[in-house]
This record gives sequence, structure tokens and C-alpha cells, in this order.
Amino acid sequence: MRFLFFIMLLLSACSPNSDIRETRFIMGTLVEFTIAGSNREIADQALIEATSEMQRIEDAFTIYGNAVNAVKAFNATSPGTPVELPEEVATILSISLDVEKNSKHAFDPFLGKLNLLWGFSNDILPTHPPLAATVNDARPPSQCIRLKDDSKWIRTDARCVLDFGAIAKGYAIDRGIAMLRKHGIQNAIINAGGDIRIIGSHNGKPWHIGLRHPRNKGEVLGTLSLVGDISIVTSGDYERYFDYEGKRYHHILDPQTGFPATTSQSATVITQQATLADAWSTALFVQGESGLSMMSKLGYAAMTVDQQGRIHMNKAMESIFIPAK
Ligand code: ADP
Ligand code: MG
Repeated sequence: MRFLFFIMLLLSACSPNSDIRETRFIMGTLVEFTIAGSNREIADQALIEATSEMQRIEDAFTIYGNAVNAVKAFNATSPGTPVELPEEVATILSISLDVEKNSKHAFDPFLGKLNLLWGFSNDILPTHPPLAATVNDARPPSQCIRLKDDSKWIRTDARCVLDFGAIAKGYAIDRGIAMLRKHGIQNAIINAGGDIRIIGSHNGKPWHIGLRHPRNKGEVLGTLSLVGDISIVTSGDYERYFDYEGKRYHHILDPQTGFPATTSQSATVITQQATLADAWSTALFVQGESGLSMMSKLGYAAMTVDQQGRIHMNKAMESIFIPAK
């Protein structure tokens, strides 16, 4: 009997029913891969390709570090110069400009100068805010880019510095999922520090996703039970921040002021593509409750937690959100 139990244990450890979990450090965060219903060999091959694709995207889009890429090169051109961008960068730029327009400029892909000034992406977090006058000087104008007929892009002003920090992680997740699928994986989660895309199911059952409480670490506001192909992305003021004279300064800036947005503690957007969920969660964070109607219009489920910790959801979110007890 004991022997039989041992054999059963062994079988369950090797059976396609046990999850394969791996973590990798990419894009400055721990990326967790969970794969269900697959064997180790296939999963390993898929993970190698997904990881290198996600790293490639980080290198292609980042404006930090030593990577040489088209985004940095574009930022270094003198205003007025027409530049051809790689197709992938042009696509992400076009999506960013759509989100900028539809969010009434709560999302702005040209905050690079401001972001570098604030320094939230540095290895060591800053300890005090920059001077208001320097912030004002680094703020980009509202019209930063023009597209010439021949598909060349022109930046209009030296304060216009591309920074895809609010969308590239989502894009990397989408590409990571595409690589897993290419290897035949149908059931998986990629979780890049709270930016998540799920596909399929967890051995025939829904995947359970917890939405983090923005103030109480280790607690969730509630959970979602989801199957299929869907992304759940949260932007929060608890990810990169410092306190100065009793005030929290965090990494999501209000393009109108150049200072950290003061409307929300967190914002969550749910739609199929992580690229869109990522861009919109940043936009919704800046907009707060007033941004929820646009989310409904686009058919996304969305939630914000305001500065007082109150939760606001649209109808689509209400229908799937299971509050924590
Ligand atoms: P995270 O990367 O922590 O998940 P977000 O997706 O919200 O968070 O992206 C925040 C990053 O986006 C910042 O570090 C900065 O590079 C950039 N950013 C900050 N404010 C804005 C904004 N209003 N619009 C677009 N990008 C922004
Ligand atoms: Mg984002």
C-alpha cells in the first residue's frame, strides 16, 4: 500500500497536471511563469524563447542602461529631423499616441526627460523631489511628434523624450505569451510584478488572480477567477516611491503638472492584450474614477482605488470581482 502511494506520488509529480513554475529577472522585476498541463521538456524550450524575447524587448525599448537602441537614438536626434523607426517601435508608439489621445493626455509617452529628472528608475531611489522650476522646464509640450507622409517620425522639441516605461512591460508579456503558444503551450500565466496575462485554464479550472491591497502589504482587495486569454494589469503608487516631509512621491507622473499624480493609490485594467492593459492602467491611475467611463466604452473591466482607499469599479469589473472577506 505504501509502495503504491509512493508510485502515485511519483506519477503526480511527473504528470501534466502539476504546474511548472519558473522565475526570471527581466525588466527590473521578477517575472513568474506558471505553465499547466505541459511536460517539462516542452516548457523548458518555451521558457528559453519567451525569456529571451522579453529581454530583447526590454533592450529595444529601454532608455536606461547601456543597451543601444532606436528609442535612445530617436531621443538623441535634433528636433525637426525625420527619422525612420523600426516597425515594432512605430507600432508601440502609435498605440501610445492613441492612449494619450483617448485618455485626454493622462498618458504621455514623452515624459522621458521628466522621468530621468525624478530618477524613480535609478537603482537607488531618490530621497527628495526636484525643484519645481526644474520640473516645469522638463515638462514636454502637448504636441511632441509629427509623422511625415513617408512614415518618418519627427520630434518637435528637445523636451520630447520618448519613454515607454508604462507600456513596454505589457508588450513584453504579450510577446512572452506568443512564444509559449508557439511551443504549443495553451495554459499559462506570465506575472511580471503584478502585470499579468493568463491563457487557458488551470487543469480545467479557472486561474485565481489576487488584486493587491495598495496599502496593506501581503493583503488582497479581492480576487478574480478567470479562464481564457486575458490580461490584468495594475499600476500603483506603492511600487517605486519615497516619502519626503510626510508626502509620498511615486513614479507615475501627471503630465499636466510634471509631479506624481495625486488621484489614486492603484488602478487595474483588464483586457485581452497586456500592452493595452499596461498603457491604460497608467492612464487610469492618473485619471482616477473619471477614467472608468472610457474603460467601459472600450469594453475593458477596470477599477481604481482613490487616495482615501475607496474602490471604484465599472460594471464589467463588478461582475467578476470577488471582494476579500
Ligand atoms: P510599472 O512599470 O511600475 O508597472 P506603470 O506601467 O504605471 O508602472 O509605468 C510607470 C512608468 O511609466 C514610469 O516609471 C515612467 O517611466 C512612465 N510614466 C510615468 N508617468 C507616466 C504617464 N503619465 N504616462 C506615460 N508614462 C508614464
Ligand atoms: Mg502601465
